[in-house]
Formats: sequence, structure tokens, C-alpha cells
Amino acid sequence: MTIQRVPELAVGVLDALPNPVLVKDEDTRYVWVNHAFERLFNVRCEDLVGQLDVDLFQDRQAAQCNGGDLRVLADGEIDEATETVVDPDLGPRQTITRKSRVTVDEKHYLVGVMHDVTDVVETNQRLTETSLALQKTADELRHLATIDPLTGCLNRRALFDIAEDLSLEADQPVGLIVADLDNFKALNDGHGHDGGDAVLLEFVRLVRTTVRPRDVVARLGGEEFAMLLPGADSEQTSRIANRICEVVRESRIEHDGMPIRFTVSVGAVCHHVNGDLHVASLIKDADKKLYQAKDAGRDRAVV
Ligand code: GH3
Ligand code: MG
Ligand code: MG
Repeated sequence: MTIQRVPELAVGVLDALPNPVLVKDEDTRYVWVNHAFERLFNVRCEDLVGQLDVDLFQDRQAAQCNGGDLRVLADGEIDEATETVVDPDLGPRQTITRKSRVTVDEKHYLVGVMHDVTDVVETNQRLTETSLALQKTADELRHLATIDPLTGCLNRRALFDIAEDLSLEADQPVGLIVADLDNFKALNDGHGHDGGDAVLLEFVRLVRTTVRPRDVVARLGGEEFAMLLPGADSEQTSRIANRICEVVRESRIEHDGMPIRFTVSVGAVCHHVNGDLHVASLIKDADKKLYQAKDAGRDRAVV
């Protein structure tokens, strides 16, 4: 093949490309475009020669494009311009035009190669949406796995997780209170299951007004609750345990126009913890005190 035939072949190759390709001179006037460019913008190469972007595309960000073109021509640095163009067959498409400088016979030319990135952009958008939806589902699942739906307080599992993560300084005291509503079965029988639920909600509200903000309130199941009091010594634990019994004893709620009064029995322990906190053994110890409170006639705290 002779060297003279190379430009002809090069033009054939460029025309066969699916990517629109453009060449501009040092004044950013069009010198040549390939078939894909002609098709995309519905122009003919010979009509384009000598024209500027502003002459051709009112709706393209011609000035901005031009600024980028001049920089590429001056510095020889590669520039990537993003724009939306309307393809006659496919409609609006997101494109990136990669612009670089080519020098022939000491003259600079700008070569632009356009890439249709619509599918990539759309796939990225879908991936972002999917990942946000997954994140939301994970948050909801975490919420469901840790929060008691009726009372909104933590469940047993969450209490154990929190206790595991609790970093207690050496020899720091920790209080644990277990509480079991008295004769709750009878209360349910008398006021209905809804009445019982209303009492459970009221109990949690009362406990929250009694414990300190950093204390953990958890529903162990049914009408049994545990309160973990990090840093509380035996005197503070005892005070909070007795206070819970008092506020419950003094409270009264109305359900279906009927007043409901209820009481609670409480067992509490205070341990000095070095290192890991074994919440299960704290609960077991506090449970023993709770049974003593029940045996002694209910509506009291044994510490
Ligand atoms: P004690 O004073 O010895 O603790 O007697 P109790 O009746 O409270 O204890 P028991 O274990 O016999 O009854 C607990 C009742 O709590 C039985 C169950 O139906 C009721 N219960 C458990 N979970 C719920 C709930 O979510 N809502 C309502 N309304 N009742 C519940
Ligand atoms: Mg019980
Ligand atoms: Mg009970």
C-alpha cells in the first residue's frame, strides 16, 4: 500500500466507527467530521467546514465548548466535556467528548471523539437507587430486630448486644433491675388485652421518667423488663428500683372509660465490673431478687 492511500483508508476507518469524531482547526472551526457525527447532528461534513459551534448549535453550550476547545489547543491537555444531545433515533443521550490536540505540519488541530455514556449513567443511577433501597431495608430490618414493636423499647437481644459493646472502665459499678408486672394475667382478663397493652406502654413511659438518660430500658418478653444502669452504684440502683415501684403504684390510667391501677415487683443487683459485662448472669441474679419480691407479697423492690 502506498503512503498516499493511507489518508483515504484512515477516513474509511473513522467513518466506520460508531463514535462521532470531529476535527477543528486552531480557530475552533470545523475541518472534518465522520459519518457518525453527520448522522447524530443531521449535518453534512462539507456544510460544516469553516463553521464554529455557535453558528451551528444554538442549543449546545457553544461558548462553554469553545472555552474547552481553546484550552486543549493552547496547552495540548486532554479535556472531557459532558453534554446531552438529542439523537434522531434514540432521543436525548448523555455524551462525553474526549478532546485532544494533534499537530500536523506545525499546525494544531483539535480531535474530539464522542462516547455515548447514557447506559452507564442510567445503570449507575439504578445502582444508586438499588443501594439506597437496600440500605433502607437493612435499617428497617435492624430496627425490627432490635426494637419491641409494642413499647418501642429495646428487646432482649438488643440489650445483650448493647451490654457486649459497653466499655466499662475498670471497677466501674453497673446496676441491673428486672421488673415484672404484678398479676398481669388477671389485669388482662379484667380489662382485655388492649387494656394490658396500654398498661405496658404506661409502664415504659413511667420507667423512662425514672431512669437516667444513659440507662438502657429493654423488654425481656411479656410483662418483664430489664433496666441496665451503667455507672450506677448500689445506692443509686436501689433508689431507682424503689422509685420505679413507687411511680407505678401512684399511677393510674384510663382505658375504655375504666381506671386501671397496677403494681410491679422489682429485683435489682449492682456489680463492680472488670472488663466484660455478663448481662445474662446479672439478669439471673436480679431474677432471684425478683422472686423474693413476688414471694414477699409483690409491689416491692428487693435489692
Ligand atoms: P405475677 O404477679 O406472678 O407476675 O403474675 P402474672 O399474672 O403477671 O404472671 P403470668 O406469667 O401468669 O402472666 C403474664 C401474662 O402476661 C400472661 C400473658 O397473657 C400476658 N402477656 C404477655 N405478653 C403480653 C402483651 O404483649 N400484651 C398483653 N396485653 N399481655 C401480655
Ligand atoms: Mg412474668
Ligand atoms: Mg407478672
